Amino acid sequence: MTVFAELSSPQVAELSAGPRTPVLLLPVGAVEPHGPHAPLGTDELISAGMCTRAADRLAGDPDVHVLVLPALAYGVTNFGAAFAGAVSIGADTLRALVVDVCRSLAGQGLGRIVVVNNHFEPAHVKALRAAVDEAGVAYLDLLRRANVARLTDEFRTGSCHAGQYETSLVLADRPELVDAAVMRELPEVTVDMPAAMSAGHADFAAMGMDRAYCGSPAGATAGEGKSTFDTLTDLLVEIVRKVGRS
Ligand SMILES: [Zn+2]
Repeated sequence: MTVFAELSSPQVAELSAGPRTPVLLLPVGAVEPHGPHAPLGTDELISAGMCTRAADRLAGDPDVHVLVLPALAYGVTNFGAAFAGAVSIGADTLRALVVDVCRSLAGQGLGRIVVVNNHFEPAHVKALRAAVDEAGVAYLDLLRRANVARLTDEFRTGSCHAGQYETSLVLADRPELVDAAVMRELPEVTVDMPAAMSAGHADFAAMGMDRAYCGSPAGATAGEGKSTFDTLTDLLVEIVRKVGRS
């Protein structure tokens, strides 16, 4: 009983009456080109994968009842606009959608919510931050220094779009969605994305990512993905406990 949309209305009505505090997770992604080897929905897959794991890990918890909301599959994704398959929504649309969903839940006594995001384009992150502030819900910020330090070497370098970090996570859950033959042939592309963005580059091509990836996809393994999912789940469980006590 951890998938919110699989509950019936009476089951939801009973949530707040139970001994456990309901905490809802909202996975957020983007429909965005992830190299020639990985799926457009990579970010949503990662967000949903860590939410499901956190809910499973806390399934028997005496204090919190974790439920995973239907994922928000669309995000602000302008950097990849030159590549087929990028589907962007406006920052205001994203902010309004997150605020509306959270307020609707809060109106039913289900306002303990954590927004879980794995698409790090600045305009997208900014819209989410504005939304969580407005709605008064929590945001798991994977770009916080303390969190970055617990993730992989490639993630820490900032040269990581559809590289070893993200591709490994996809391999852990949906290996059939990665074109392994193409992946193995991809050379490493080093792009300091935070620096490129501060320098004003606002699309992948201008950053030197002419195939919509950077990092080392060829080094990706399902094993690394599993271990990264464990860490991401640790981080999420920590914030869930905090929200549950609030
Ligand atoms: Zn991604």
